[in-house]
Amino acid sequence: MVRMQRFWEDLWKREGEFLSSGKPEYRHDTAFVGVATIAEQFYCEYKVENEFAFGEIPTEVKEKGTDLHDELIPQVAISRKRFAKLVQGKKPSFAVLRVWGKVGNLRILGMPDHIVWAEGKPLWVVELKTTGGDPTSLWDDQLAQIRIYGLLLQSMGFDCSRLKLALVRVRARDLSDEEKGALILKVSASLQAGAVKQLESQYDGSMKVHLVAHDGAAAEAAIASKRGYWLGEREPTSSTSVGKCRACEYNPVCPKTLYKPD
Ligand code: SF4
Repeated sequence: MVRMQRFWEDLWKREGEFLSSGKPEYRHDTAFVGVATIAEQFYCEYKVENEFAFGEIPTEVKEKGTDLHDELIPQVAISRKRFAKLVQGKKPSFAVLRVWGKVGNLRILGMPDHIVWAEGKPLWVVELKTTGGDPTSLWDDQLAQIRIYGLLLQSMGFDCSRLKLALVRVRARDLSDEEKGALILKVSASLQAGAVKQLESQYDGSMKVHLVAHDGAAAEAAIASKRGYWLGEREPTSSTSVGKCRACEYNPVCPKTLYKPD
């Protein structure tokens, strides 16, 4: 008990030190890089560049996606003390916290969607992605994002010996309000019971749970492939796919776009 208390005190102290250590030394005078931003680099690095040049461009798809996300994973804020008590229990519990760490000279911050805990150990990191299309595809950006969450939890000092990752892709327009409200609890239960296939069959092609091994080395490699952009070692790369540029909200202003409407 005393040992766990020390762990949490030390964790919050190290988090405070990490946050106050940030200096605007990366590209665009940033001091920290978001996990989701590194993931976006896998889609197109120039998109990140455009975000800094032109600001975030709101789209209907993004706004709907954010609302849906909140609906699928409702959350309430709790204190650090309550968090520590909750996740230390023997019974699996659900709570998320900010993940952070310095990897390959890059200070990284992120917030996973959902974590299942028991005895102070993360058992599952779950990331939820809504899609209007086929939920069976798993993209490089999504894979990198969830793997980096696992790596950061490990570097924060959590025992990740039982950690697994689950990326849930869901075509939410096919789901009733009741199904949306119950989704994350059902996913958590099926992950723990090893009954993902049975769960997917209930959703009739509208939902796919991609199980991914926790792999710190793969996460480090993903960061290494993108950090040169932040450290000023190279210029941003841009998409080689016309389809990506067509779907991109920056295509009217992007100097690198491959999409040229008539
Ligand atoms: S238009 Fe194409 S190259 Fe430009 S940011 Fe979008 S995806 Fe990248």
